[in-house]
Amino acid sequence: MTIDIVRIPVLSDNYVWLVHDAASGETVVVDPAVADPVLAEAKARGWTISAIWNTHWHPDHTGGNAEIKAATGCTIFGPAAEAERIPTLDQKIAEGDCVHIGGHAAQVLDVPAHTAGHIAYYLPTANAAFVGDTLFAMGCGRLFEGTADQMFTNMQKLAALPGETRVYCAHEYTQSNGRYALVAEPENKAIVERMAHVDAARARGEATVPTSIADELATNPFMRATSAAQLADRRAAKDSFK
Ligand code: ZN
Ligand code: FE
Repeated sequence: MTIDIVRIPVLSDNYVWLVHDAASGETVVVDPAVADPVLAEAKARGWTISAIWNTHWHPDHTGGNAEIKAATGCTIFGPAAEAERIPTLDQKIAEGDCVHIGGHAAQVLDVPAHTAGHIAYYLPTANAAFVGDTLFAMGCGRLFEGTADQMFTNMQKLAALPGETRVYCAHEYTQSNGRYALVAEPENKAIVERMAHVDAARARGEATVPTSIADELATNPFMRATSAAQLADRRAAKDSFK
């Protein structure tokens, strides 16, 4: 019962995730910013895309929807609360729903704040969570359509997943997040240690995502915020951090 998860770097810092279940032959794309590199990767692997899972409406997460659907006939799943802003959507989903890849069920989690209807997908049998722009390595999404209270709730919800859960974020923001994390928690040695690895990986041109819930619990100043007020302060500080 193996699930393969392939990272496709696109645009300046987006990651599209291609998820393949060998048993059923099904392939899911999470947040296709664009179509061509995704279709090319699937073709090179001999995989046929059966579904798209969108986390939120932003064009750098849905821009490839129409072209991938036209090319493959796949079904597009995404947040019910953002259906009007994702015109390509086939299936509207929200917390309490499950979506499937072969025999594997992904639980839909509501994580509004970056956008009003943002959702995440938790696939326990693959030990994976696709979190879009809600949780990043050492960071969280900007509060474009929601509040710090909501983001605090989101962080608590994701923090409750098993520590070994692999977290598939939609952007390579780790180094910039880490620079702020060092300032937010100057006493936190785990951040210093992690940043040494991150800086070395980035110098080699390597990705630093996926991360894990355990690593975020140790080093993420937003997941570690002890109140919504503290998260709000940290988010505001990060927004203007250079
Ligand atoms: Zn976004
Ligand atoms: Fe994004």
